[in-house]
Amino acid sequence: MIYRDDDIFLTESPRGFGEYYDFVKFKECHEYFKKAKVKHVLAIVASEIWNHPELVEYLKENKEDFEFGIHGWAHERYSEWKEEAIYKSLNRAKNTIDEVFETRCHWFFPPWNKRNDAMYKACERLELKLNDSFVVPHEALIGKEADALCFHYWEDTEREQIKTLLSTPRT
Ligand SMILES: [Zn+2]
Repeated sequence: MIYRDDDIFLTESPRGFGEYYDFVKFKECHEYFKKAKVKHVLAIVASEIWNHPELVEYLKENKEDFEFGIHGWAHERYSEWKEEAIYKSLNRAKNTIDEVFETRCHWFFPPWNKRNDAMYKACERLELKLNDSFVVPHEALIGKEADALCFHYWEDTEREQIKTLLSTPRT
């Protein structure tokens, strides 16, 4: 199971629920991963990278602790898009992340967690793995398993749950 931190670099909630981005909370959350020696997998909203240069620097400095994934160019509803449009947008996001962090993205984590066939085709062309099944922290705490655990560092309850999960040795 990978630990996927959604909405990285996103400044505001796409639902209009206020601010998401919080550098202090991100670093706090990352400490839990570091202590547990677990990879912190980032679902990045690529268009916002330049809005938060301090996070760019931090990720570069601690690069080996992270795995870089795509969460859209700007948190789009790709499930309603055609293949070519999805391909172009994800290609742009992938190239940006790969270039800025001198890495290679292998993951696409769809915004809104919705999928369509065109999305699978676009991901295949870009050699991106699409994350299909996931659980949320409170489900993981009761032992539910999936390909990924999806959480948000900026959400106080979830960050506490991640801390508990990472400090509990798995049997
Ligand atoms: Zn999201």
